Amino acid sequence: RAKELGGRRVEVFAAQMHADVVRRLELAADLQRALIEHQFAIEYQPVVDLATSRVTAVEALVRWCRGSVFVPPDQFLGPAEDTGLIVPLGEWILREACREVAAWRAESWDIGLSLNLSARQITAPRFVQTVEEALEESGLPACALTLEVIEEMLVDDADETVKRLSELRALGVRLAIDDFGTGYASLAFLRQLPVDMIKIDPSFVSGLGQDDTLTLLTRTIVRLGHDLGLIVVAEGIERPEQLDLLREMGCTRGQGFLVARPMAARGVDSLMRTSLTV
Ligand code: C2E
Ligand code: MG
Ligand code: MG
Ligand code: MG
Repeated sequence: RAKELGGRRVEVFAAQMHADVVRRLELAADLQRALIEHQFAIEYQPVVDLATSRVTAVEALVRWCRGSVFVPPDQFLGPAEDTGLIVPLGEWILREACREVAAWRAESWDIGLSLNLSARQITAPRFVQTVEEALEESGLPACALTLEVIEEMLVDDADETVKRLSELRALGVRLAIDDFGTGYASLAFLRQLPVDMIKIDPSFVSGLGQDDTLTLLTRTIVRLGHDLGLIVVAEGIERPEQLDLLREMGCTRGQGFLVARPMAARGVDSLMRTSLTV
């Protein structure tokens, strides 16, 4: 009887695994098609200077509508990375976002662009040249581009990754550590990379004013960043209380739903003509 049950379980397991593999293959094929059929779009989330409330930058965030269903980046970036599709996709995002931000700057709006990178993108051949070309084509000055990386990227090919990022920095591009404080080696990471900015993870910001430990940790990260001469950005600001505390701590910049949600380029267009009130 036990054997029978066990066998049944194996069957169910095998069927599930099969379904999983099929789903993954379908996703990979759909991603490939999505790139050809221009199903990807970019949204921009404003980042404000906390002292002046001025929008200083926008972060480009990729969007995918699979048919009429919105698929969150967390669900397709992994498969895009595994299949290598992240390389052409990332290149499209880079060129498109540089072009759009350069157009806003051409209307006398002094904003920067923040762009998320994945590990596979950085180690791909010609990555540095691709960035150079995107800057040249769009006319975006290198100093207006910030590349966001996370420490997990230094797990494989760490030497190559650090080398490429250092080359980019030598061009005048800025580097940011995203999701700062969540990895195992956030502090060690700071020593390996010549960075300009840290972005405090929302898991700290969420507890501001409600959790003493998280509040203290946030304050400590802000101070650490400033002592190192870095720009400190707080991510995931949702409540006014968080914004007040971050201002009081002297955090440089802020980003989050309370400030502004990610929006299509057209939304940024109208933002340029008004201003944010936070
Ligand atoms: P991230 O770079 O840390 O981006 C911030 C994420 O937090 C975005 O999610 C944004 O929509 C969300 N967010 C912003 N403010 C708030 C808030 O106040 N509350 C909450 N709950 N969430 C907020 P999104 O767009 O789903 O992106 C998730 C992650 O996917 C990003 O995290 C980034 O690691 C990655 N990603 C997004 N776009 C790209 C891209 O173009 N290339 C690469 N390589 N990765 C990307
Ligand atoms: Mg980011
Ligand atoms: Mg983040
Ligand atoms: Mg993240």
